[in-house]
Amino acid sequence: MKIAVLGGGTAGFIAASHLTRSLPQAALLHVFDSRIPTIGVGEGTTPRFRTWFEEVTGLGLSDLAERCRATSKKGLRFEKWGSVGSDFLNRFQPTRLLGYHLDATELVRVLGEYVRAERVDARVEEVIKSADGARVRLENGDTHFCDYVFDARGFPPNFKRGHGDMAELLQLDWIPTGRAMLRRLPEKDLSGVTRAVARPHGWIFQIPLQGSTSCGYIFNANISPDTEVDHDFTAFLHQEGIFSWIPRGALNFPNFVRHRVFDGRIFWLGNAAAFLEPLEATAICTGVLEIREAARLISDHGSNGGVDPVQVEKFNRKMLTYVVRNSLFLAWHYACGSAWDTPFWEYAMQGMERARKCAMVQPHLVDMEAFVEAGRELPGLALSEYEDQAQWDREAYPLLRLFRPFGNFSELNFSQVGHGIGYYASDHFHRN
Ligand SMILES: Cc1cc2nc3c(=O)[nH]c(=O)nc-3n(C[C@H](O)[C@H](O)[C@H](O)COP(=O)(O)OP(=O)(O)OC[C@H]3O[C@@H](n4cnc5c(N)ncnc54)[C@H](O)[C@@H]3O)c2cc1C
Repeated sequence: MKIAVLGGGTAGFIAASHLTRSLPQAALLHVFDSRIPTIGVGEGTTPRFRTWFEEVTGLGLSDLAERCRATSKKGLRFEKWGSVGSDFLNRFQPTRLLGYHLDATELVRVLGEYVRAERVDARVEEVIKSADGARVRLENGDTHFCDYVFDARGFPPNFKRGHGDMAELLQLDWIPTGRAMLRRLPEKDLSGVTRAVARPHGWIFQIPLQGSTSCGYIFNANISPDTEVDHDFTAFLHQEGIFSWIPRGALNFPNFVRHRVFDGRIFWLGNAAAFLEPLEATAICTGVLEIREAARLISDHGSNGGVDPVQVEKFNRKMLTYVVRNSLFLAWHYACGSAWDTPFWEYAMQGMERARKCAMVQPHLVDMEAFVEAGRELPGLALSEYEDQAQWDREAYPLLRLFRPFGNFSELNFSQVGHGIGYYASDHFHRN
């Protein structure tokens, strides 16, 4: 069996290293064009990545601290979000689970050591599916016939609404942001959390790495021009006593998921498959979930004659559900606004109403209500405080009701965020 991975960003290397390990009998081709840069951000992970990374490489925090300037991540601290006015933490649950903050460029170098593949540095011109495989055509005219292709070539080329292949994408318009302005700051505090600080035009993330802090302002370019965001970004950093940084530019991003991330021969992966604003750092863990499921699908059902259509649709439904549910949880973070009464926050607060107008997400919203209600009963803010796993087992575990996730999140995450933003003080979910 021959499998091609297209793309040399985080998603491409996650796929290539995973397939090297999980399908050792397959001949692997890894194609990426070194003239096309990777996106270069993606520094916060969830515990799903940490577990996967240890499985594939055998490496842990101390290796990654040295190689990728990594620090441990307990969760995400929200500042000035919601109607309550206090900071709160959405901590990974249970307590023993941790993620990483790491340098995305270095991560790719480390993963490269765990890839066994024929490497080709070339531009892919076209991928053409046929009944028995897919043909990858390169710019020099070479073609490679493969049984399966993983396309991790980054954002779809025309992600503005109505362009190119947009019919294949579900726009997740309830996410209120679409642009990021990036700066690298000096190392600040290695607090073990990503910060998400609400600001008039959106929110600012700070990711603590060894030796520097990755920082970005996430906003909506239709509401706030770059000049105003730049000004507020600088004002915020000055308030924090930071007067020097390295500008890293600005970029647009879409919030979307492909209706079908697998067509029977081609898997789309990473930013080519789906993207949500980086609020809960879901991108890398979505890639890890997909490659695990895809490798299992190929190994269980796809060796001879391809994966049967029933399995293909099951796979697509699972991935679509996962991303849509994550998107609804993210939109819900904005439901009670923030310390700022601005056009951005007015728009952001209406996200759940925008979601309710999309017929396709109705069943997910119905299920989400169970998580919102479960979260109400749980002691949200106290859940963030646990440091000791044994104590968590004794006190928090017996309170659980649902024992299943909503996308990447559980009733414990709903509780921490819901109580944190003040959602349960007033019932926004049922408001029209
Ligand atoms: C502001 C911001 C913050 C983010 N923060 C996080 C975070 O904290 N956590 C998280 O999980 N994610 C985060 N992300 C998401 C992050 O982008 C992804 O996790 C991750 O980097 C996946 O990128 P990728 O590999 O899909 O694509 P890319 O990094 O864009 O890589 C694309 C690859 O494809 C190659 N390529 C492209 N076209 C061709 C072609 N025609 N032929 C051959 N090769 C080609 C390129 O050379 C490159 O190697 C963030 C994103 C943004 C915008």
